[in-house]
Formats: sequence, C-alpha cells, structure tokens
Amino acid sequence: MRLSRLVRLCLFLLVLAAATFTYSAMTFARFTETYTGSDSALVARWNFSARGQDDEAFYNKGFTFDLFNGQTVKPMDHGGKYFIFTGGGSDTAIDYDVRMNVADLGFLTTYGITTAAQADIYAPFIFKITAEIPGAGPYVFTPGGSVDGWFRPKDILDGSAGVDVDAEGYFSILCGRFPVGSDEQVRVTVSWQWNTSFYIRDIDDYAAVQPNTAYDADKACMLYYQAAYDTYYGPGGLQDQRNAAAQAVSAFLAEHGGPSPDGAWLHYYPCEADHGAADNTCPEEPHEIPCPLNENDGHFTEYNRLAGIENAAIRACETSLLKAYDGYDTAAMNELVSKESVKVMFRIVGNQVRPEG
Ligand SMILES: [Zn+2]
Ligand SMILES: [Zn+2]
Repeated sequence: MRLSRLVRLCLFLLVLAAATFTYSAMTFARFTETYTGSDSALVARWNFSARGQDDEAFYNKGFTFDLFNGQTVKPMDHGGKYFIFTGGGSDTAIDYDVRMNVADLGFLTTYGITTAAQADIYAPFIFKITAEIPGAGPYVFTPGGSVDGWFRPKDILDGSAGVDVDAEGYFSILCGRFPVGSDEQVRVTVSWQWNTSFYIRDIDDYAAVQPNTAYDADKACMLYYQAAYDTYYGPGGLQDQRNAAAQAVSAFLAEHGGPSPDGAWLHYYPCEADHGAADNTCPEEPHEIPCPLNENDGHFTEYNRLAGIENAAIRACETSLLKAYDGYDTAAMNELVSKESVKVMFRIVGNQVRPEG
C-alpha cells in the first residue's frame, strides 16, 4: 500500500559498477631512468594493490567492486560498499589517486512529470565517498553543492561542482601518499541512493523541497518519499480532500437536482412544517416551498463554488510532490533501462615517487 507505486514501476534498472585498477604507466620506467642500467630497479618490490569488499585477496590489476551487488536497482534503493588499497610494502613511496566515473549518470531526457511541470530528467542518484586513512581523520569527499558529503553526478558532469573531469570522464575523489615500505591500508566506502529529493528542487514548482537522505527502517522507505506519500494519501491529505470535494458536488446535485432544458435551476421542497401549530401561517392544503437558492441563480453560484473547490483539489493531486516524484522516477527509469548498461567506475592510480638523493 505504502509503496504501491513500485508495483506500477515494473521495469527494473540494472546499474553496474565496474572498477579499474591501474598503476602508473610510468611504473619502473621512471624508476629505471633514475637508476640507469640498474636491473635491481626492475625487481624492486611493487605491490600496490587493492581488493573489493567481496574479495578475499588483494589484486594488483582488476579487483571486484560490484557497487550494486549485480542486482536491479529501482527508485529509492540505497546501499554502499567499500574497497581497500594498500602500498603493500613497496620499495618506493606511492602517490595514489582514486578516481570515479559517473558519465553514465547525467542528463537523460525532458519530460512532463506532472500536468504542470516540465523537467530536465537526470539519473537521480546521489553518492557519498568516505575514507579511512591511517594517521588521518575521517575523510569525506565534498565537491561543491554536496549536502553532508552527498553529491549529484549531474553537478560533477556540468562543472558546477568545481571538480576537474578528464576526457574519459574520471575525476579524483581521494589522493594521498604511502611512504616507502608502507603496508598501510586505505578503505574507501562508496554510499549511494536513488534520491529524487536532490533533483526535484531544480524544478521551479518544487524549489522548496529539502534534500533528505534519511531512511525509515520501520517503513522500509526513504523519508523524503514517505513525506510526499503521507501528504497525498495520509488522513486529511490531498486524496481525502479531493474525495470530499467530489462528494460535496454529488451531494449538492442529489439535493438540488440540476438545471432544466430552458436553463432555469429551480425546485421546490414539500413543506414539512407543523401545520397544526397555532402560529403556522401555511395554507391548509398540501403544498411546497421554494428552495432558498431559487433566488438570483443561487444554484449556479453554489454549484460553481463547489465545482471550483473540486477542480482545485484535483489539480493539487495532479501537481503534488508525490506525482512529481513518480513522474520523475518513471521517466528516469524508462531512459536508464533503454541503455545497454549503466556503469559507475572507479580507478585507483598509483604513481611511484622518485626516490630522493
Ligand atoms: Zn435548491
Ligand atoms: Zn407548509
């Protein structure tokens, strides 16, 4: 019931996270240039390596990092995974640079998400990158426009986050240096959400919406959506108001009938006064009395007033935040599932640091 819309959204999105692990193309070439002719450089220990949360061993080429667990992703899903990399006791210091690629999660299409609002639709994911680095405090990647570290791929891709993106679409999320011989490990955690509250505010009609990353474990729902849902379906909410307004129109028509073909809207009630009472001035024979609304086209006035309330209630439903979220998510998912694959990629680059002296 609460998430009934997910039943309607029967298409599922497969989002893949691939990780590429590289070390510098300069590896050893630079090193050997320093130590001309020295074969010892070629056997220098180089063990810069990484492993994903699901790996048991460290690898120095690719490693497993399936951010989305190989599962389909649907609106309001969320999750996270970590990977770990290490200098592995290498014989040189290592400058590392962890890079991310979200090029697949940019602009998708333009779509009318409600009867009122046209919107530019983006893949409504947000990410948060945190890291545990030995000897340093907690690290959070905080590009411009991020909220508590949560950032939108859109802002990276369009430059508004102030992050440099290379020609392949990679940008740096963490850099640092392992000292010579270090076997320290850095753990990078990637958290993600399908969170349309971070995107809907770009649309004028919904500019007041505050991004909210909170998850309601009891209701198994993102709070931002739950709030919109309650506004719509909760007691006294938009749906109740619409039903009450429709009921008021029906009740009015049931009581007062409708206009006759000549355009007049007049009717009469049987007189239900106590005709035996001493102060009754009614005639003795059975008779009817006019509806008070017979005066001055009163039926039309009242009908139009009630119909106006119903129309406003219908419009409030059609332009509600809930409908906007559902419209946005549906449009985004339809675009995403039409793609062959949607990838979020990571690349860990390690550059040997030229030994001093
Ligand atoms: Zn009447
Ligand atoms: Zn009477």
